[in-house]
Amino acid sequence: MTGVGAARVSRIPGAQERSCCCPVCGTAVQAEPLEHSNDSSLYACSSCDLHFWYPVETPGAEWYEAAYQGRDSTAMPLEPGHLFFLNDERAPKKGRLLDVGCGTGNFLAAARDRGFEVTGIEQDRNAVQFAKDHYGLMNIAAELPEDHLRLNNIGRYDIVTFFEVLEHQKDPQAFLETARSFLVPNGYIGLSVPNRNRWQIGMDTLDYPPNHLTRWSPRALQSFLEHNGFEVISIRPQRLTVWRAAQMLSALTRIGAASYVAHEKTPTIADFASLPIDEVRLKNDRLKRDKRQRLAASLAAWKVRFLTLPAFFLLPFLRLRGFVGLYLYCLARRKRPASESDINAESFAEAKGRL
Ligand SMILES: [Zn+2]
Repeated sequence: MTGVGAARVSRIPGAQERSCCCPVCGTAVQAEPLEHSNDSSLYACSSCDLHFWYPVETPGAEWYEAAYQGRDSTAMPLEPGHLFFLNDERAPKKGRLLDVGCGTGNFLAAARDRGFEVTGIEQDRNAVQFAKDHYGLMNIAAELPEDHLRLNNIGRYDIVTFFEVLEHQKDPQAFLETARSFLVPNGYIGLSVPNRNRWQIGMDTLDYPPNHLTRWSPRALQSFLEHNGFEVISIRPQRLTVWRAAQMLSALTRIGAASYVAHEKTPTIADFASLPIDEVRLKNDRLKRDKRQRLAASLAAWKVRFLTLPAFFLLPFLRLRGFVGLYLYCLARRKRPASESDINAESFAEAKGRL
């Protein structure tokens, strides 16, 4: 998830303070922001440890379709969060599974092949079409979680998964409440987010609004889930990999050769935030055809490949120093309410209150 190029972001000593509240625990944050990006600022909650951007708006399906062009029509390998879940001994091995933000359906297809009864929802219509055509997934729709909940799906699923989805939510609290409403009593959630405590040299340009709206540490994630009626079963930072170490070594030894070859600055997610959707689409199309951009991307990729050898030898030392990989995985179980009658009353009252 590391982008290439530099986003229009600055560190801001003594920046203007804005009074705002943590979207997870509600604590009013008075401290100065950590960073700015376009019109948003990054704040740290002293109470629950979440870092969040404010003010922000969720960009909507059309923006993702324009900004993620290409990534929503490709068969991607399984991500670390997917593999953590599928190989987690404490995770369920069968049942009705809903994947929220299922992308092109690679995880759903793998879960189906292992015996789960799978359903997926995803905002990006191109990705949904790809999942149907490429993997033959039929129970998949381009709809929002709240729309799916309206269709008689309260208390329907044994497992709800959302990999690399939580950090895109403007209101993580409302998102988790919706996810919980999908679950049977004692149902499970499996998820992953980018780990804020990962080894990061320079900036991860995808980690800015309107793409990512929050940044999670293990402490912030655990506290969030426990305060919302979940028992955390496992929470695991991804180990530092050779590839990730090579990417960071590449960032450490940046000399600007790729930028020189590209001739034109590669736009970042933060740059796309300030453009109309049609312009994002046009710019993406043009850059994909631009030979200099393709050559620059190829040079950058070859540099990382070259650095995998030194990264391999440095890896034990880096791990000993406590450097971890990009992802943070978590498995949690919905706590059972006091009595069976409370379950239905609680589920329906909560869900209907929001619909
Ligand atoms: Zn908080």
